Amino acid sequence: MKISQRVHCRSCVRFVLPAFVFLVCAISISAADQTVVLKAARMFDGKSKSLIPKGVVVVQGDKIIDVGSNVAIPSDAKVIDLGDVTLSPGFMDAHTHLTLDFTGNFNEKRLKEFQTNVSEMTLMAIPYARATLEAGFTTVRDLGSRFAGSPEFVASEGIADGPDEIRKAVRFEVKNGANVIKAAVSGGVLSLADEVDTPQFTPAEMAALVDESHRLRKKVAVHCHGDQAAREAIEAGVDSIEHGSFMKPETLQLMKTKGIYLVPTLMATEYIMSKIDSYPPALQAKARAAGAARSEMFRNAVKMGVKIALGTDAGVFPHGDNAKEFALMVGLGMQPIDALRSGTSNDADLLGIAQAVGTLEKGKRADIVAMPGDPTADITATERVSFVMKDGKIIRNGPATPPTAAVQDDDVDLPAD
Ligand SMILES: [Zn+2]
Repeated sequence: MKISQRVHCRSCVRFVLPAFVFLVCAISISAADQTVVLKAARMFDGKSKSLIPKGVVVVQGDKIIDVGSNVAIPSDAKVIDLGDVTLSPGFMDAHTHLTLDFTGNFNEKRLKEFQTNVSEMTLMAIPYARATLEAGFTTVRDLGSRFAGSPEFVASEGIADGPDEIRKAVRFEVKNGANVIKAAVSGGVLSLADEVDTPQFTPAEMAALVDESHRLRKKVAVHCHGDQAAREAIEAGVDSIEHGSFMKPETLQLMKTKGIYLVPTLMATEYIMSKIDSYPPALQAKARAAGAARSEMFRNAVKMGVKIALGTDAGVFPHGDNAKEFALMVGLGMQPIDALRSGTSNDADLLGIAQAVGTLEKGKRADIVAMPGDPTADITATERVSFVMKDGKIIRNGPATPPTAAVQDDDVDLPAD
């Protein structure tokens, strides 16, 4: 769902908040550099089509140094036998809003957002990041947070008209540190001033967006619900379509042919529909329309073999519930093993960091989670992660930090004015 930063009163092309890949910060509770061996009843390596029995992963420092069923265990290693669990690469989420929280009373939250400055927002994001990490998501991509790049550009409305302005805006964001470019090329659900499926870029503007971003070696993620906008974005060569609710089979076929990723964000619709009455009436209608269309679109995408990367729109729903996306994808026809690949190696590929994360392989970063039982028999095991290692540091081995122990955003005192 598009998180519109403000209500626009003129009819124009809406550009592009910068977005960043966050490797969620780890808090260490283990000694550095001791060799640690993780053992489990089974293992998902991030890429195979089935689980591997008797999984063993050997970790030294922040790296995996060996992995498999029958690997030599160094004599000085600390062995952690996790028992009847499945080891997996740390989960990844290609679509989050790590500084935002639009759960609870929507209107109240939007008003509060306007009163929150960048320092307060940063503090509020800490428990969101912690909840995300404890849920097993060791890498997330932030696709739009207020203040996420340059305050100057956000202050200038985040809007660009015409190909040249779009090139300028892309250059500006990259200069200020963005490492992926996000554009809203169709209307959104959580925005008041547009229809959900209308195109907001012309083909010439889309081409400029992609050309300039790729020239600067940055990927392009487009927020897009409508079919026409998606087709034009795909033709222009974007890297991913976020949401994609109304995409028709012909558009999905084009997407498959060009190898472009779908990031479906099923959780967002699911959450909004579960409390639909609490949103303004104009948004309710848009959410209903997008929700009704997206299930069929997703089923078609799975059947046709479109590349799918897990992304949730966390921030629209509570941070830390990201793993519920796995069961939603399986419920709409995806094989459990493919859902697991979608939330690990596919995300790593989409984000351009597959050389470092996304699989359990020698030399990869030691981002490792464990979940009870066999997730290919019960995909909701992904929602009960019991062990999290990030960069070789054990974040959790057992129950998560109770929510009451985390700083809630209501605890951050905002200025009274
Ligand atoms: Zn979003």
